Amino acid sequence: MKMLLKVIPVGPLDVNCSIVADPSTGEAIIVDPGAEGERIIEVAREFRVKAVVNTHGHIDHVGQVRKIKEFFDVPFYLHPGDIPLIRDEIWPGFATYIKAQECPEPDVLLEEGMEIKVGGITLRVLHTPGHTPGLCCLYSEEEKVLIAGDLLFKGSVGRWDLPGGDREKLKKSLERIFSELPDDTIVVCGHYEETTIGHERRFNPYLHGGLL
Ligand SMILES: [Zn+2]
Repeated sequence: MKMLLKVIPVGPLDVNCSIVADPSTGEAIIVDPGAEGERIIEVAREFRVKAVVNTHGHIDHVGQVRKIKEFFDVPFYLHPGDIPLIRDEIWPGFATYIKAQECPEPDVLLEEGMEIKVGGITLRVLHTPGHTPGLCCLYSEEEKVLIAGDLLFKGSVGRWDLPGGDREKLKKSLERIFSELPDDTIVVCGHYEETTIGHERRFNPYLHGGLL
């Protein structure tokens, strides 16, 4: 594996902020800086950070985008479908609870099939709506890693009842992921533990009657 992947659980909801780096070039991107911006900066500052990329626009995932973008002076990538969500608090008082800053508009719009280069590593954008309209996974076929945001969790799937959620789209997106990706793909979820496509294919109750 030539990718260096550091997953930092941040904030009271343990949002997984990922730092994806190519150690041979020192380049990196930061995915989903939801909270604890100072802590993320401490880990990321050894790299040449090129971008902030968000899987989706829920406030617990974008809460520190402004801080990271300004500190490293880098563009912010988000799918346009989620722009309406970035200032939605979801629940009254939630932004204060997670210490979220006001999220800026994206500089670069993610779209299906786009490739993001981090040194010699290629991350392909998979647009997989359902949890939100613009949720995108970042997939490295070569490294067998999927950064899935809140599409999929170990033993669970993303909620479809939050702002922007759509159950039918979530079903289609999960069907797509499980038909396209090999079992040995490591899945970095939006919160909590990582898993693999194979483990979820066998054991995830939502894929065995719970949703699909
Ligand atoms: Zn979410």
